[in-house]
Amino acid sequence: MSAACALAEAGYRVQLVERRGYLGGRASSYLHPGVNEVIDNCQHVLFGCCTNLLSFYGRIGVEKKIHWTSEMTMIEPGGRRSQLGPSSWLPAPLHGTPKLLSSTAFTTADKLALARAFQAMMKPIPLDTTESLADWLRRHKQTPGAIERFWRLVIASALNADLDAIAVPYAAKVIRELFMNSARAGAMGMSSVPLSELYGSAKGFLEERGATVHFNTNVESAEWDEAVAQWSIHTRTGTLVSEFLVIALPFEAMQKLLPHMPPAAHGEELARQVDAFTHWPICSVHLWFDRPITDLPHAVLLDREIHWMYNKSVLQPWRRHRGSYLELVQSASRAFAARDRNQAIDQALAELSEFFPQVKEAKLEKAALIKEVRATFGVPPGIDNARPTARSPWPNCFLAGDWIATGWPSTMESAARSGHIAADELCALSGDTRTFLAPDLKPQGLMKILAVSS
Ligand SMILES: Cc1cc2nc3c(=O)[nH]c(=O)nc-3n(C[C@H](O)[C@H](O)[C@H](O)COP(=O)(O)OP(=O)(O)OC[C@H]3O[C@@H](n4cnc5c(N)ncnc54)[C@H](O)[C@@H]3O)c2cc1C
Repeated sequence: MSAACALAEAGYRVQLVERRGYLGGRASSYLHPGVNEVIDNCQHVLFGCCTNLLSFYGRIGVEKKIHWTSEMTMIEPGGRRSQLGPSSWLPAPLHGTPKLLSSTAFTTADKLALARAFQAMMKPIPLDTTESLADWLRRHKQTPGAIERFWRLVIASALNADLDAIAVPYAAKVIRELFMNSARAGAMGMSSVPLSELYGSAKGFLEERGATVHFNTNVESAEWDEAVAQWSIHTRTGTLVSEFLVIALPFEAMQKLLPHMPPAAHGEELARQVDAFTHWPICSVHLWFDRPITDLPHAVLLDREIHWMYNKSVLQPWRRHRGSYLELVQSASRAFAARDRNQAIDQALAELSEFFPQVKEAKLEKAALIKEVRATFGVPPGIDNARPTARSPWPNCFLAGDWIATGWPSTMESAARSGHIAADELCALSGDTRTFLAPDLKPQGLMKILAVSS
């Protein structure tokens, strides 16, 4: 979508081909028949540092539909709360320090360990290091409290993988962007409308610029005709032709398409790269109660299998549910993903009542469990060797999608960034000097002089 919208803005006649009947891909919403509500396939969060996603939102006119917050409430079982977030009187990277120091979620030993680790993450980390985050944390003498309540809960869940399956440079990127570079970079955003409505705005933007959106159209193969310099894209419902092609598929769909692409010099290398990727699941439990449970818009829940609570009644007030609608998210949990619906919902409810005792009094009106087993790709050490650039092995063809070489983990920012990179490459090939890749936010405060390059 980001490539299509950028290129339509640049004056190209774009055709967007989508297998499903709606836009949004892995970030979408639908009418869930079991609960008769439009729900997101999972809460999606973005941050101030997601410059390409925000520039894409600006392009399609939905930037005002994001609810922003700088506060993160951590709750311990039993209900004790700590607040993390910036303090305006201290420059970056110290802006988060006062609240971290006053947090009861961490012991003094945990806080000292975290300070040591943050300092170490400021130093350049070789991109090709083979050390996993788990080993790095052991080497930097992280305490069990810091590991469980910060590294596993906040960082591993942001990267959606176990600590021993995370490359250190990706963890460092999250730490620097969310906690060190500036308060603005670390601000957290959540859509105030269902995700398909948010991303559906791309359709209007494209059509106003003469583009066509083909829904329910599965691309099955593509051929390049050198004589006329033209692609023929074969779908189940017919063939489309074009001068340029941007393939913005998830890695497993690319894997399926590859044998049906023309032979190319580096085609096998791309196939080897795609094979190196693995999926990690994310589950979400959606609960509707007959009464309010909490005023908090969202919270981090400590020491249990449910990790994040999003209060959709607060985040999406137009829902006007007289009670409350909460969404609970479990990241990187293969064990939770293996549970059946009733087990998962019962467990989520039992755990939730440890944080919010009101749950015990409230009546659960309806519930849904969504398992996304192919939610994101993992970022283990060495993954960067498998991330291809936007230049494909074929003529006039570019790759996009969150898994290509953007330097970002599997996120909406990586997807938007990849689309802008592909659009830039395509423009450059056709002699157009326009560029769409948005620059990163500049570090603020002391980070201006302390900024690291990797
Ligand atoms: C449960 C869950 C929670 C997540 N949470 C977050 C979060 O909080 N923050 C965040 O930034 N990211 C999050 N992500 C990741 C984010 O959703 C993805 O990184 C992003 O959506 C990837 O976008 P993409 O365009 O690269 O791929 P996709 O969104 O997968 O889009 C690819 C599109 O290609 C279509 N397609 C596939 N095959 C074909 C074919 N043969 N022909 C035509 N069309 C085809 C698909 O239908 C799809 O629409 C989450 C993902 C999930 C699943």
